[in-house]
Amino acid sequence: MKSSESRLGQWPLLAEAARRDRLGQALLLVGDEKGCQSAATALARWRLCEGSGEEACNCRSCRRQLDAHPDMRHVRPETKTIRLASVQQAVASSQSAPLWSPMTVLWFDPVTAMTLEAETALLKSLEEPEATTQYLLTAERRDQVLPTVVSRCQIVHLQGSIRASRPFRPEYLADRGRDLQEDLTAAAEAVRGRYLQRPDPRLLELFDVLVEAHGGIDRNLNQELTRETVAMWWRQTVGPD
Ligand SMILES: [Zn+2]
Repeated sequence: MKSSESRLGQWPLLAEAARRDRLGQALLLVGDEKGCQSAATALARWRLCEGSGEEACNCRSCRRQLDAHPDMRHVRPETKTIRLASVQQAVASSQSAPLWSPMTVLWFDPVTAMTLEAETALLKSLEEPEATTQYLLTAERRDQVLPTVVSRCQIVHLQGSIRASRPFRPEYLADRGRDLQEDLTAAAEAVRGRYLQRPDPRLLELFDVLVEAHGGIDRNLNQELTRETVAMWWRQTVGPD
């Protein structure tokens, strides 16, 4: 199992998902350009690594410049747009086994630069992905991406996940004026902190509930139900405080 601690350590939810082998094959990273660049680079590095996945790894893949890696396809706009041919070429090249790494990484940077034709071709390949392909899609806002593409991806909100420890209080869940997604991120971070101090397996279950709830909001899961379910789990696992 690869270590996710140092490469993905800046993004606790991503690191935890990676550690538990829950990282999706297609990830839509949503955030500003700088945030997307650093998260996508870290994820690509982590997937391409032939060793432990640690920051200090010195394997052949980690030594190679990212864009010069034989299993890396970093697809960027030629002028203003990413065209159909570029997507087709990247997808076709991922259909044969990777040369060095466990996975081929396709990074569409940003997915919002794609022409509609190109995005439709991407959608087709997301419907039947090769087991050895990691898709990374970056976008400033998720509503700029085709909903059919969004529905094929695990969505990662980069804003808010960088702050390592924000306070979380269970009563926040009952407050409809608060941003539920941000509170769930803070709650997951709090649970992770508790688990590191006291490795109770029930905390891992709670963590899963929080991660699933976080993803569920993007699939328009009923927010009221999410608030109630998470609050119930929290009471049962952590207690009223
Ligand atoms: Zn390595």
